Amino acid sequence: MPELPEVETVRLGLQPVLEGHVLTEVVTRRGDLRVPFPANFAGRTKGCKVRALRRRAKYILADLDSGETLVIHLGMSGRMSVYSEGKQRRIGSYVYDKAPEGAGNGKHDHVVFETDAPARIIFNDHRRFGLMTLVETDRLDEDKLFKGMGIEPLSAGFITAYLAKALDGKKTPIKSALLDQRLIAGLGNIYVCEALFRAGISPKKLAGSIRHERLPPLVMAIKKVLKDAIAAGGSTLRDHAQATGDPGNFQHHFLVYGREGKPCKRPASSSKAVGDKISCKGTVKRIVQAGRSTFYCPKCQA
Ligand SMILES: [Zn+2]
Repeated sequence: MPELPEVETVRLGLQPVLEGHVLTEVVTRRGDLRVPFPANFAGRTKGCKVRALRRRAKYILADLDSGETLVIHLGMSGRMSVYSEGKQRRIGSYVYDKAPEGAGNGKHDHVVFETDAPARIIFNDHRRFGLMTLVETDRLDEDKLFKGMGIEPLSAGFITAYLAKALDGKKTPIKSALLDQRLIAGLGNIYVCEALFRAGISPKKLAGSIRHERLPPLVMAIKKVLKDAIAAGGSTLRDHAQATGDPGNFQHHFLVYGREGKPCKRPASSSKAVGDKISCKGTVKRIVQAGRSTFYCPKCQA
């Protein structure tokens, strides 16, 4: 399941060919994804200019000049692939390949957009848990998809005071609290495990029992791990690909996730003993919390 960094990576790759550009063609190859497309989906989007391409939690939002916002969710396996017309093209830091023969006609190519960049954008989703819908831009926050959604962890408002208030009195483990989308939007299993490791906090610790002075490093760890993952193009464990088709690279930088039974990677800089190469001799452990795997080091996360 793509988390915030993977969705942001896709958004960044779509931005040069969508933002400020007109959707010159919109084709849907079936009536539904996870849910049916809204009535007249192609008619309501074709000819519209994309004013801004934003992200909220794990949703990509294209604000159209019609006053509606095209809401895209990648689900489990959705991909947005960008192809340039004619030949390979570089726009900013992205290189888009030219569309191969039959691009957009594949069995799982469910939606094809053409823009005046010019570019072809293909939404491919073999498990079909993705979603595309249209919501009045002015009413997005009240829509059932977004109502009650928590703060964006990379926003300026996500500070220690916010987290302290959100966790106050909570008797659930910190891991579960950080996954609660009503508190923080877009955080998922991988990045919560990684952030808790970086902050040295046990995933089992009750959220409301964490001392206040331990919260600033946790806020910083959450922001840092998300930023690092976005810079690496996200993590490709199964289906995630950037809009250029390239896989993400952050899976090579996991410190705990998926590392059960391996030595802890707590860096030497956090060691008290000078000259100690690895400060922690612990072994990464996997436990199950609320049905999800948690990876952590019992020795240095308390
Ligand atoms: Zn450790």
